Amino acid sequence: MVKSMPTIEFIDVTNRDGEQTARISLSKLQKTVINWLLDEMGVYQSEMGFPLNPHERGYINANVDLTQDDSENGPLMKRIQLSGWSRAVAGDVEKALSQTKIRHLNLSISTSEQMLTWKFRGKFSKEDIIKMMVDSVTAAKQGGAITAGVNAEDASRTDLGFLIEFAQAGREAGADRFRYCDTLGHDDPMSISERVGTIAREAQIPIELHCHNDLGLAVANSVAGAVAVCEAGQDAFINTTVNGIGERAGNADLVSCILALKYSAKWGKTDYITPQIDLTKSWKIANYVANAFGVPIPINQPGVGANAFAHESGIHADGALKDRHNYELYDYEALGRGEKIEIPTGRVITTGAHGGASGLEYVYNQLDLGFADDEHMRETLQLCQIANLHNQAPLTREELWLIYHYPKQVRELLTVIL
Ligand SMILES: [Zn+2]
Repeated sequence: MVKSMPTIEFIDVTNRDGEQTARISLSKLQKTVINWLLDEMGVYQSEMGFPLNPHERGYINANVDLTQDDSENGPLMKRIQLSGWSRAVAGDVEKALSQTKIRHLNLSISTSEQMLTWKFRGKFSKEDIIKMMVDSVTAAKQGGAITAGVNAEDASRTDLGFLIEFAQAGREAGADRFRYCDTLGHDDPMSISERVGTIAREAQIPIELHCHNDLGLAVANSVAGAVAVCEAGQDAFINTTVNGIGERAGNADLVSCILALKYSAKWGKTDYITPQIDLTKSWKIANYVANAFGVPIPINQPGVGANAFAHESGIHADGALKDRHNYELYDYEALGRGEKIEIPTGRVITTGAHGGASGLEYVYNQLDLGFADDEHMRETLQLCQIANLHNQAPLTREELWLIYHYPKQVRELLTVIL
């Protein structure tokens, strides 16, 4: 069905594609805070990890609980869908649904000639690929999944006719979205717009743009593709990561995609971006993720880089001081910037793996949080000790707040069982 006004929503994959990146990782508590900050930002879905991986289970179940009513505090996350990534293999899908509380799945299988020949070594025909995908969607829906998307890995190097067939078969089997994966970052804004526009018209299914940055085009491709999908009458979903972290040269940066949809010459004039998105949360999430990964934000990062609103040269500084819009395309307040950050230069008290009661009480006093009784304090202390061990870094305000208000779920997500 063609909608009268299609929308562009965001499916962030920082906690899956971002975290599977070589050399870097996140603790389960950090992943949880990222899900929470994505929810505050109005992101539609967080692809939160791998339900089949045993060390993800406690984290997944605790996070799904955090989206549901909790008697005392209400749900931590109000709108966001939490999804898991799985191979498009019916047996994997059944396990994911029976072993975790995850109820949104993205099911992935390779579709390109290159991968069919050189990854699967000719084991599967194109018909086999479609059958496996259809069987996995059927298993998802019969097993209780609320939504299931189908991902064509290496879509940008796949024959267009086969992609249309794949997307159509997915829709007929009950898939909610088709993910066009530019796995190697091979597309350009023109090629991707043409291809996804055709798929949207022919297969009549909402489309996700999953773009990598090997040619520096991930943001441009994602936004161009999403607009083309909307112009073809279908909803579009952009896969992003915070700060563009991802395999090799990275994924499409969340904040840059939003900026392009709000402020670029042509796309900025469209009205497709969901009104739920709150750009003012950008500064907070970008800095949280940079610290969690231990990967600093480049100084020239759009919107959130240290130099994004910095001027030194005579003509620029003079122009910016006369009127900010002489040299600034958008306002720093729009990204949640502008506050002065105080950094203590005297005594510092932290709580962590070796912390005790009075240090803990001092730290929580700084957040205006006191303990109801000794038991509450002891439980919080124990969770802070373990959380600090997992993070290997001082706990942030968000982490301390989460531990204090949702100890039951934090205990579960910190528990890793094989
Ligand atoms: Zn990817």
